[in-house]
Amino acid sequence: MLKRRATILGATGSVGQTTLALIDAANKARDAEIEVVALTANSKVDELAEAAKASGAKFAAIANPHAGEELAARLVGTGIKSGAGKEAVLEAAAMDADWVMAAIVGAAGIEPLLVAAERGANIAFANKECLVCAGDAVLAAMERGGGKLLPVDSEHNAIFQVYDFERPHRIRRLILTASGGPFREREPDTLRGITPAEAVKHPNWSMGAKISVDSATMMNKGLERIEAAYLFPTPKEKIEIVVHPQSVIHSLVDYVDGSVLAQLGTPDMTIPVASALAWPDRVATPAEQLDLVKVGHMDFFPADERRFPALRLARESLDEGGLSTCILNAANEVAVAAFLKGHLPFLDIAGVTEHCLNHVRPNQDGPDLEAVLATDKLARERAWERVEELAQRG
Ligand code: NAD
Ligand code: MG
Repeated sequence: MLKRRATILGATGSVGQTTLALIDAANKARDAEIEVVALTANSKVDELAEAAKASGAKFAAIANPHAGEELAARLVGTGIKSGAGKEAVLEAAAMDADWVMAAIVGAAGIEPLLVAAERGANIAFANKECLVCAGDAVLAAMERGGGKLLPVDSEHNAIFQVYDFERPHRIRRLILTASGGPFREREPDTLRGITPAEAVKHPNWSMGAKISVDSATMMNKGLERIEAAYLFPTPKEKIEIVVHPQSVIHSLVDYVDGSVLAQLGTPDMTIPVASALAWPDRVATPAEQLDLVKVGHMDFFPADERRFPALRLARESLDEGGLSTCILNAANEVAVAAFLKGHLPFLDIAGVTEHCLNHVRPNQDGPDLEAVLATDKLARERAWERVEELAQRG
């Protein structure tokens, strides 16, 4: 029987909810005994309280420091403890779960992730921005803690399942597949008036707003290239991207003998979440079975850096190394937030990011957390200034 003591960071989000639904289904099917230790969220008090009650969590933490009383009121009489503010989220990460789902969106997830990593939990890793921004610090904390990093991003989960970690020198290339997002076939100049509602409508996956916009700009695939460079001991030059609109092949590993191994499945995050939950075992999921005849055919196209400049920016910042990917991530987070609020045109998202990559000069160097957080802050400030400048120019 699969047994876990699970904490979910970002429990109210798309991946968090998928994880809770899977845990519930596995427990009900008596396929697993999964105890929920702690749940965290940013500001959705009702959703967090409901999830805590439904899952029998011991502790619920809300990052918004002003929402503590409201959360406690929702949990009166349940025996579930609660807390508010950043410290409460860190407290949740520090509790003794052996499996922690890192599903906060953005660099806001770094510190709770590091707390869970340092104490040796196995980390189901969805929160890609943490590796992009603080990859060295995250890997060092995992190494010290001794837990396992289990990729949840569907591409990285696919590679993880077919990667020969004992013989990485026998691997020739990693091939990340990309759906191409909703604007794959649109000429860039037709994207001028794209609204947030259009950009978050992904053809294959249902996801949170930020990653949906990243899929539309293809920054998501750029971030995933960087994520792959940290997760797998294959040189970054050997990571390729191919557009595959059906999202059935989730990524591939090409070995020196010409064998190419892939993981396939219906586009449903339940599958990679289940893989990370049960690893190295397996657990049944309610995900639809793959029907190859129904899929019919699969297409593949090159990833076009001219059409999707975010892909180029991410590749260049990975090549540059150091704190460059931290600047890339921070600027992109700000630009996407500004776009979602209607303060920045879609086509300027990559422009704001490129501007920051060219103008932000970190005050500190080195891969430690202090330098990362200082650079993240600096890049965010510059990005907001740039958004303002562009708005004033009209
Ligand atoms: P989402 O926006 O749906 O949910 C984000 C979660 O993070 C919420 O629970 C929110 O309360 C919490 N959160 C946000 N800001 C916070 C803060 N400042 N402090 C504490 N908590 C905060 O996002 P999502 O789509 O579930 O994605 C989560 C992560 O997983 C992202 O890094 C994303 O790139 C990655 N991912 C998502 C999918 C997907 O299918 N949704 C697939 C692959 C990877
Ligand atoms: Mg992905």
